[in-house]
Amino acid sequence: MTSHQPVDLVVVGAGIVGLAHAVDAVRRGLSVAVVERDERAVGASVRNFGHGCFTAQAGDALRYAMAARTAWLSLAKEAGLWLNEGGTVVVARADDEYAVLEEFGAARDGQVVLLDAREVAERAPVGPGVVGGAWLPMDVRVDPRHAVHAIAAWLARQGVRFHWATSAHLVEPDAVITGRGRIEAGRVVVAVGHHVDRHFPDLAEREGLRRCALHMLRVADPHGRRVDPAVLSGFSLLRYAGFTACPTGPALRERLESEHPALTGIGLNLMFTQRPDGDLIIGDTHAYGGTFDPFKDDDLDRHVLDETARLLGAARLTVRERWRGVYASAPGPFLVAAPMPGVRVVSVTSGIGMTTALGLAPEVLDDLLG
Ligand SMILES: Cc1cc2nc3c(=O)[nH]c(=O)nc-3n(C[C@H](O)[C@H](O)[C@H](O)COP(=O)(O)OP(=O)(O)OC[C@H]3O[C@@H](n4cnc5c(N)ncnc54)[C@H](O)[C@@H]3O)c2cc1C
Repeated sequence: MTSHQPVDLVVVGAGIVGLAHAVDAVRRGLSVAVVERDERAVGASVRNFGHGCFTAQAGDALRYAMAARTAWLSLAKEAGLWLNEGGTVVVARADDEYAVLEEFGAARDGQVVLLDAREVAERAPVGPGVVGGAWLPMDVRVDPRHAVHAIAAWLARQGVRFHWATSAHLVEPDAVITGRGRIEAGRVVVAVGHHVDRHFPDLAEREGLRRCALHMLRVADPHGRRVDPAVLSGFSLLRYAGFTACPTGPALRERLESEHPALTGIGLNLMFTQRPDGDLIIGDTHAYGGTFDPFKDDDLDRHVLDETARLLGAARLTVRERWRGVYASAPGPFLVAAPMPGVRVVSVTSGIGMTTALGLAPEVLDDLLG
């Protein structure tokens, strides 16, 4: 079997979680190899909104998010990747949605700017029925289709060795066995996203790991207008821990579930971000399982398109692309496990990997490197 030159750290998986560990290891002066089974990353890390949704997190996720914010800002400069510091606008179209934002603002001194309906419309294209909103100025956006590729290219320039189109078959305490040979390693980080369940099924079962499938679309911008912030809706207030912890969060959930059972039933998080070329990434829906049927029900897209058109105040939307993304999901927001000495399995199990991975990785490596 071919034996590659040994390194201090082997990372399996070139999504944002794997690359976050490679970035931090390089900053510590370690030699690093990354093993990725595809020719380039095409997983959750390129299929998302590119939303650095830092402010709406809570607990450990908030700590990782704020560290990740600093890391994204430096990486954007060093790796030359596109990053927009326009924050997030949350659009409230009912008084109870605005009430949650008021409570959130009161709990987060200086991180939340409440907006009236006119101020919302100045920052984002919205249809009728807006009662107000909030601007979260610390949040950022990156272009998900390019960000991880730009980080990988930057890492390669720092001397990181990439083994593309190479599957890791077996992980040992001091080596990774791949389809193209053995790589001796001081330490190993396995960052295979939702594929943890296939590589470490017992661990996945113990942690209650499932897969979450999301449907997304890219549409032409109906207003031809630059939109700097990520735009969230009242449905988003049901999905991020910072919002759901607000005192009137449960009442809002009850109202939305009884008024919109079809939409809450598909786990709608109505939101959009604008790509650098002006098109909008819109979504999304959530379904949980172990293996997903390959045949997609068109009703999911219809709901997302109708609701986005309503949010934007557009008569109709022109679809350019559709795709499905999958991420790992579990009762806890992060999975960090040590199945054997010198090895960590790391997965963000709450759909916020772009927001948190760059803050999580340094803490994992602090522990792994002792
Ligand atoms: C539709 C959608 C929208 C989202 N929106 C956001 C957002 O706006 N903001 C946010 O913070 N988060 C968002 N998320 C979540 C975020 O994208 C994920 O948490 C994050 O990308 C997970 O990164 P990852 O590196 O773990 O997984 P991935 O990007 O899936 O990478 C895992 C990699 O491991 C590789 N791999 C697997 N097995 C092997 C093997 N045996 N050998 C070698 N390589 C292997 C895979 O090929 C893959 O490239 C979204 C997710 C989806 C799906």
